[in-house]
Amino acid sequence: MRTAIIGGGIAGLAAAFELEKARAAGARVEYTLYEAGERLGGVLNSEMVDGAVLERGPDSFLTEKPAAAELCRELGLGAELIPSNDAARKTYIVVKNRLVALPDGLMFLVPTKLIPTATTRLFSWTTKLRMGLELLHPPRPSGEADEAVAALVQRHFGAEVVDRLADPLLSGIFGGDAAQLSARMVLPRLVEMESEYGSLTRGMLAAHRKMRARAAARKNGAARPANAAGGAQPVAPRGVFTTLRGGMKQLVDALAARLNPAAVRLALPVSGLEKVAHGWMVTAGWNAEFYDAVIVASPAWAAGVLLGPVDAALGEELGGIPYSSSITVNLIYDETKLGRLPDGFGFLVPASEGRAMLACTFVHRKFLGRTPPETAVLRAFLGGMKNEALLAESDESLVARVRRELAEILGENVIGLGMEPEHTQVSRWRRAMAQYAVGHRQRVERIAARVAGLPGLRLAGNAYDGIGIPDCIRLGRKAARELVALGESAGQLVR
Ligand SMILES: Cc1cc2nc3c(=O)[nH]c(=O)nc-3n(C[C@H](O)[C@H](O)[C@H](O)COP(=O)(O)OP(=O)(O)OC[C@H]3O[C@@H](n4cnc5c(N)ncnc54)[C@H](O)[C@@H]3O)c2cc1C
Repeated sequence: MRTAIIGGGIAGLAAAFELEKARAAGARVEYTLYEAGERLGGVLNSEMVDGAVLERGPDSFLTEKPAAAELCRELGLGAELIPSNDAARKTYIVVKNRLVALPDGLMFLVPTKLIPTATTRLFSWTTKLRMGLELLHPPRPSGEADEAVAALVQRHFGAEVVDRLADPLLSGIFGGDAAQLSARMVLPRLVEMESEYGSLTRGMLAAHRKMRARAAARKNGAARPANAAGGAQPVAPRGVFTTLRGGMKQLVDALAARLNPAAVRLALPVSGLEKVAHGWMVTAGWNAEFYDAVIVASPAWAAGVLLGPVDAALGEELGGIPYSSSITVNLIYDETKLGRLPDGFGFLVPASEGRAMLACTFVHRKFLGRTPPETAVLRAFLGGMKNEALLAESDESLVARVRRELAEILGENVIGLGMEPEHTQVSRWRRAMAQYAVGHRQRVERIAARVAGLPGLRLAGNAYDGIGIPDCIRLGRKAARELVALGESAGQLVR
């Protein structure tokens, strides 16, 4: 089976790796990976500057989703995986220009501890009272229509929690807008809890109790896997986030090294797709080639352009998935010249603060061992659905903005405007992050139904069933496995 993979981001690379594995194992598989840009990895791109890892795109992945760490281990990168430094995990929200720490006990936007919630400066007394009364919230039937995250959170905790918590968290993670993002897609656990318990706080406490009971059972040895000698296996340290010592590009490089170099075509965008008898014609540059199957792993808007002429309804559905753009600005400072940064990983900025920055990470604190001693790396995240216009600004202007806002938020004595960074780096990511708007799940079901009518076609990437790196890897590998299985069953029929 000859397969074309369109897009060399992490989803396309994961698909190519899976096909390469099948080929090496003897399956009759050939593949070509087309990438429009001059390098592989899509938004994964790290650089080493003066011994510090600078991430232009993602800096890590969620540990609780196993697909990314599993792939790293398969590629021999197990020893390179490092956990986030959770002992120092503390995040702040900017409120009227001051940093207020997220109260202890917040789980997925839901307060679960009385004293930290009652004493935090993050919320007014009216909101705190409302949080108490939330315990009496009635259940919402599970069949109710999807709604925006903002609507769900506002119904339970009020508008201030949307403004100071939901919106900054979602724009800091997805570059998204709580008033548009689908609760069912982005916070599925909360939607389930609401239908079971009514109160999200009660639901979260129940989930926490179950988790603790499971952990206690594991501690007592009930569920802990034993090694050959019968002893308990050493458990590697886990953080909420996991990264690679040398940056996310290590994963891209390790994947690329496993592929057949002749099968990878860089700087060659696919410009046309045509469904023909028993397969697909793929046009790139001056050539059109026949393939039995195609995995489209480009952003959905690009997939829509390619697939529109094949199936207009499919093209329209794909083109209808909104995307946000974002900017990262990395600043390297000599730590000895800075004042003392607040403890923790960094801060999030609510839209109501009227700033360009959506979030700032103190990179040297979040992951240890990726920055030399006495070096501070600050990474600002800008743009998002509400501030796309920033992408048109020059690098100098963006760096100046970030420096000004840092001085205003952290204080001139911590990071004054006069303190020159040792190095600056600006990266723009246009229409890179799919937004799971209200109704996304139904849209994806309609897309799947159209795709099912086009034999040999698979879609992968961040637009469908998970925005993060582990989900993109899972979908890329799944698409490839399905095609290999299809090829094998077709081969068996012929034989
Ligand atoms: C700034 C930023 C920070 C992020 N942080 C995190 C994080 O910390 N953790 C996390 O888990 N996730 C994070 N994400 C999300 C995650 O990184 C992405 O969702 C994921 O990497 C997307 O992978 P992909 O392969 O679907 O798409 P992409 O990386 O966008 O790759 C798609 C590729 O398709 C190519 N292409 C497009 N059209 C064509 C064509 N016609 N022909 C050939 N090639 C084409 C593009 O050039 C591109 O290389 C972040 C995203 C961004 C932008």
